[in-house]
Amino acid sequence: MTRHRSWAEPWKIKVVEPIEMTTRSERERHIRDAGFNTFLVRSEEVYIDLLTDSGTSAMSDRQWAGMMMGDEAYAGSRNYYHLEEAVREIYGYQELIPTHQGRGAEHLLSKLLIKPGDHVPGNMYFTTTRLHQELAGGTFHDVIIDEAHNPASEHPFKGDIDLAKLDALVREVGAERVPYVCVAVTVNLAGGQPVSMANLVKVSEYCHARGIKVMLDATRAVENAWFIQQREPGMHGRTVAQILRMLCDLTDGATMSGKKDSLVNIGGWLGLRDPKLAAKAQNLVVVYEGLHTYGGLAGRDLEAMAIGIRESIQESYIRSRIGQVYYLGERLQHAGVPIVKPIGGHAVFLDAAAMLPHVPRDQFPAQALAAALYVESGVRAMERGAVSAGRDPATGENRYPKLELVRLTIPRRVYTQAHMDVVTESVIALFEDRDRVHGLRFTYEPEYLRFFQARFEPVGAARVLDTPDGADLSEEPHFELGGS
Ligand SMILES: *Cc1c(COP(=O)(O)O)cnc(C)c1O
Repeated sequence: MTRHRSWAEPWKIKVVEPIEMTTRSERERHIRDAGFNTFLVRSEEVYIDLLTDSGTSAMSDRQWAGMMMGDEAYAGSRNYYHLEEAVREIYGYQELIPTHQGRGAEHLLSKLLIKPGDHVPGNMYFTTTRLHQELAGGTFHDVIIDEAHNPASEHPFKGDIDLAKLDALVREVGAERVPYVCVAVTVNLAGGQPVSMANLVKVSEYCHARGIKVMLDATRAVENAWFIQQREPGMHGRTVAQILRMLCDLTDGATMSGKKDSLVNIGGWLGLRDPKLAAKAQNLVVVYEGLHTYGGLAGRDLEAMAIGIRESIQESYIRSRIGQVYYLGERLQHAGVPIVKPIGGHAVFLDAAAMLPHVPRDQFPAQALAAALYVESGVRAMERGAVSAGRDPATGENRYPKLELVRLTIPRRVYTQAHMDVVTESVIALFEDRDRVHGLRFTYEPEYLRFFQARFEPVGAARVLDTPDGADLSEEPHFELGGS
């Protein structure tokens, strides 16, 4: 008989960073100063920071030791060769072009492969990916399966590409106008949802038969590999590392943000197979990032990423990583809070449209909910809805995606289960007070990637979250000892 054992972190804590809780009246001031945009709140004013899992990971003692071994040569740093070795071995791409982060690689790839008038299909958009495709003159097309747009669907692989949608597009515009298909694993904006191996096999066969390349957005491919191991028939006996390699082997290249899976604070790369294309990318990286053996990074950053890649594929690590996301998601689900199902790999997504039916879409319910959560508890989350989706470049109209979400993103190896308990309690408190949340309107809207820097004000109210009756705003938070 096997006895039940909870997942637990395969590490212990060696260094800590103090964090502080603020009062509600302080947070009211901070969110107003930040234009009701959590991106503009200072980190010191945040209690538990679930804005993003990008670059917020805790590095290991080995990675920090690697930082001391940085070879800060302009050209040919040994750390570059360590990274090249790790990418070749773990991801299988022979050609490596380092970049300062993921969007640096997206910029190079878009410039190299997209000609004005081209069409680039993908499994739901990602903000920076789509913008680089558009700036290169391409048009993005969402070819993800319909289930991805339904937060309640329990489909195990909501990131899958709908082959019929892809085929309809290719027939309409012609294969020669489709330089590549961008496959994101997992799909961030669908709620961290995975793509199945079977689907990528079909996409790869379809595309390669027509001279269309398949490019992976490998940012969270390790987490995707874990879902395949857990959910896909016939895959249970394989290691995450083996599955990751199988995914990559089906593609012609990848853009990577090391700030996610690879457990570093900065870094990314473009991985390719075709040496001719790689030579062009190596030429272009000199213009935008730096010499092709550092790509905008210090030698120490390259070393930390090389080590982080190897740590990221350890089974005990990935189990605890996703175990923590599940812990939070299951507690919220149990309390009746509407979240995207199934729970994703890097975050729990609150369904803001379901939670705030009284706030119309053009008053940005997810933006309002993220601001209100910060006021309620000092927990910082991120909007993933109409503000992130931006405006249609052709018509200038707001895009209203089906999903209007708030993302509670879990940094890797940073917070404990007790922090997840506080987050749960905070979200439940806000859920109970949801009628007190007011919509927002723009007071400043930047042209590109507006969600990062936009400012707002509440519509028809003084605050984004009305005060509960009789509450003392200057009250210090009350923490209880013992279990609840
Ligand atoms: C973060 C992210 C990127 C961009 O990477 P950066 O390192 O932030 O530039 C691209 N694709 C996905 C899916 C991401 O989550």
